[in-house]
Amino acid sequence: MSSLLSVRDLRVDYETPAGPARAVSGVSFDLARGEFLAIVGESGCGKSTMLFAIAQLLTYPASQVGGTVTFEGVDLTTLRPEELRQHRWRDFSVVMQSAMNALNPTMSIGAQLADVCRAHTDWDAARITQRCAEVLAMVSIDPAHLKSYPFQLSGGMRQRAMIAMALLLEPKLVIMDEPTSALDVVAQRSLMRQVQALREQLGFSVLFVTHDMSVVSHFSDRLAVMYAGEVVEMGSTRAVFDDPQHPYSHGLMDAFPSLLGAPRVLTGIAGNPPSLVNPPGGCLFAARCAQVMDVCRSVHPELLEEDGRTVRCHLFHPVAS
Ligand code: SF4
Repeated sequence: MSSLLSVRDLRVDYETPAGPARAVSGVSFDLARGEFLAIVGESGCGKSTMLFAIAQLLTYPASQVGGTVTFEGVDLTTLRPEELRQHRWRDFSVVMQSAMNALNPTMSIGAQLADVCRAHTDWDAARITQRCAEVLAMVSIDPAHLKSYPFQLSGGMRQRAMIAMALLLEPKLVIMDEPTSALDVVAQRSLMRQVQALREQLGFSVLFVTHDMSVVSHFSDRLAVMYAGEVVEMGSTRAVFDDPQHPYSHGLMDAFPSLLGAPRVLTGIAGNPPSLVNPPGGCLFAARCAQVMDVCRSVHPELLEEDGRTVRCHLFHPVAS
């Protein structure tokens, strides 16, 4: 698979009264055409901020302070707003966390879909109506709901309508920020199956953020685990689930139930993430890590790759020795 998106050394700060808080710190990865990459981590680890930076949607107090985001050879960070507009919806689209907040409650679903078409294409009214009906049908919503308002749809239908909107212009990449977090587990599963089927049918790539690893366990190709603004582990989803290497990845695995295997006691990860304004030296996970060593408190571990897995932990790259 060839690379569609290339992120290098991405850094994002939030301006705070105490000084800049480094929310995303030196994140780099490639996303192949048609690939599904899931980004997991607890709330506040920087995963949604990173998605917004990739989509060039950051607003004050957040700002990108370094790095590049290259989409099909074009560095999005160098484009003017009008140039970016040419790429949005056509090349990449974003599905927000809460459809109820993202959709306009005073406009019908059809009017909102048509708005996107009018803003980004020169299609006539008949073609717009046809395309809007097509994408609703693709996400299993009766096109009769083009006339419905968001409050007339269930939570799952609203979220599917958001996905329909994201697919209007057949983008190559769909960026999803916790699209299932407001849904019950049955609706979550149904939505994920739908995304999977559409991806197989249309061939788009997915960048998917979630705090719940179980949501993506059966759907993503690769998994990136983020902690305190950094990627601490990345690899194929199966490999990371079957054999997590970073102690934080282990902690996340132990914190959610599995449908397979014997029942087990769930455990949380004790402690809190570090200050991002004055981060400690050494490993950012050291204060919560059961396997912490002396070296961890003074030397910041590098993210190193071996056999397709990347891990940021001295246990696997023992500088102590
Ligand atoms: Fe734990 Fe040390 Fe690895 Fe950090 S580097 S995760 S503190 S063992």
